[in-house]
Amino acid sequence: MVDLIKEKGGKAFLTDTNTLYVGTRSNAVDHLETAILNGFDFSVVGVPLIIADGLKGKDYISIPVKLKHFQEVKIASTACLSDFILTVSHFKGANLHGFGGALKNLGMGFGSRAGKLQQHSDVLPYVEENKCKRCRKCITVCPADAITVENKAKILEEICIGCAECSVTCPHQAIVMEWKSDLTKIQEKTVEYAAGALYGKADKVGFITFITNVSPVCDCFGWNDVPIVGDIGILASKDPVAIDQAALDLVNHAPGNPESQLGEKYTEKDRFKALYPSVDATIQLVYAEKIGLGSRNYKLIDLN
Ligand code: SF4
Ligand code: SF4
Repeated sequence: MVDLIKEKGGKAFLTDTNTLYVGTRSNAVDHLETAILNGFDFSVVGVPLIIADGLKGKDYISIPVKLKHFQEVKIASTACLSDFILTVSHFKGANLHGFGGALKNLGMGFGSRAGKLQQHSDVLPYVEENKCKRCRKCITVCPADAITVENKAKILEEICIGCAECSVTCPHQAIVMEWKSDLTKIQEKTVEYAAGALYGKADKVGFITFITNVSPVCDCFGWNDVPIVGDIGILASKDPVAIDQAALDLVNHAPGNPESQLGEKYTEKDRFKALYPSVDATIQLVYAEKIGLGSRNYKLIDLN
């Protein structure tokens, strides 16, 4: 893909955004090291890697979407400033969205850290007091002076802007997010972020989806399980809704793996409902179609 883009005269680069949670992708330095260790490296791919929301996940542009949940969304600035985007997604299960494909890759993938928090949670971070060691590191990174540390750290909710900087900084994981959000709302919010990532890029975005190693949980987990279906192939489209709908249908029509997390439910028609009974994964597709991001109708053209 990179070679083809370069042949056409494009200035290609690889990109990703920092994570909301603690780990090896929560700032650009750790993120670049992790990427290079995993082969996303100039010496392998022949193009540079740019962390799209900057050193600490604060580099974003507010994009006006004027939708149900958000008037504007906080999209990583590199994504906003790019002339074209080719989104490469791994299709797999996701505990909050049912599945993760092109829409989630766009919306969550290009959301800045504060944007990811807006999608994930309706409440702000809070301190688990029994873990707090009063080191005060959280105070030094908080851009809103929203933390005090007396006996234990305390977040002043009326001032906190939900950037999640404290959460990824605390060396004792004492600041945590409330991950439970309304499961319809989180899908719709991610779709609104996808709309923000697509803003101003009509006909300048393409989507490639790998339906291989279809794991039951999202790739952000530090563990995973055997694929729920066998490898199906690679899809390409200019419509993020159509490609996700097609991937979902292909997975649902493929033989389920009884040795996977599907277990006895391996014959259920909706593979992701079998994995996550409380999640209706079609919410993201229905809402994305409703706000004009694409169509759930598609035609598969087999290139084999
Ligand atoms: S960084 Fe963590 S341990 Fe240190 S004061 Fe803040 S909450 Fe407590
Ligand atoms: S989320 Fe951001 S603004 Fe809120 S307390 Fe943490 S660092 Fe401060």
